Amino acid sequence: MSLGEFDIIAKYFAGHAHGDEVLLGVGDDAAVLGVRADRRLVLAMDTIVEGVHFLPDADAADVGYRALAVNLSDLAAMGAVPSWMSLSLSLPRADERWLNGFAAGLFEVAGRYDVQLIGGDTVKGPLVITIQVGGWVEPDRWLTRSGAREGDAIFVSGTLGDAAAGLALLTVGQRPMQEAPFEFLRNRFLRPEPRIALGRALRSVATAAMDISDGLLTDLGKLCEASRCGAVLEVEAVPTSQPLQATFDVDRRLQYSLCGGDDYELLFTAPASAISALKAGAALTKIGVITSGRGVECRRSGQPFTPRQAGYDHFAH
Ligand code: ADP
Ligand code: MG
Repeated sequence: MSLGEFDIIAKYFAGHAHGDEVLLGVGDDAAVLGVRADRRLVLAMDTIVEGVHFLPDADAADVGYRALAVNLSDLAAMGAVPSWMSLSLSLPRADERWLNGFAAGLFEVAGRYDVQLIGGDTVKGPLVITIQVGGWVEPDRWLTRSGAREGDAIFVSGTLGDAAAGLALLTVGQRPMQEAPFEFLRNRFLRPEPRIALGRALRSVATAAMDISDGLLTDLGKLCEASRCGAVLEVEAVPTSQPLQATFDVDRRLQYSLCGGDDYELLFTAPASAISALKAGAALTKIGVITSGRGVECRRSGQPFTPRQAGYDHFAH
């Protein structure tokens, strides 16, 4: 328990960087990176706060995993290859058990995506984790939210609503009948999978892209706003997982898949014909079309549909 700041850094966070581009890593006043002239640097940062973005009793490995995964999701949405991260940790105490778990989760993701920890900051305070990730993309090939055009098809990867359902189950301690769906939904919240390979594949196909962190309707609204266009969304086309279908009725599924956040799937637009060229490694579903209007219009069985407002039940917003 009596580890000092420098012991924590030395024991858990130093010596992980390798590879040609990190000229100087953890341990000096700053890191030094080699930067290639034929690439563009892409940066993103996300902060997660105990009690706001993760539950106070959350497993430390899950916290470490999620802290990096949500950052990598932003790079995925840009079509970038992740490469480095820096880590700012505010800790209430030097809890070695927590640090061990956190580092295990963090470096599990870092190893999978070959992300080097190049530096950071360690302070005493409420439990807050900030990660900045850096990566690269070819010149003029990054994805943005602003390129959608009338007539483009709207796609999502994977399934939606799982993470919100998983969070609801975690929050209220309510368990569905079967163990397996509960496990799946819970993990979709705790350990999101950044869609890096899909983001890379979209560089030559998508007109606009973003990751879904705040819920499909909210995030599609942001994409439309940035692209100065509207969207018609076929709510019954929105893909949901088998475990979600097995656990919740259709109304609740719609609510989770349209309004629930934290899935970290990619939302993107593309000419409908272009999509067959994609070998993405993730299931892709067409859910609507971009229009010349403004805002997101939902349809269910061909009729206008107004989703129930999220927020009055198990959503932890
Ligand atoms: P300074 O006093 O120069 O700001 P620090 O004492 O904060 O430096 O940090 C010493 C070194 O350890 C720096 O290289 C810094 O990047 C690194 N570092 C500090 N905290 C972390 C952390 N949580 N993860 C990775 N590297 C860290
Ligand atoms: Mg210094």
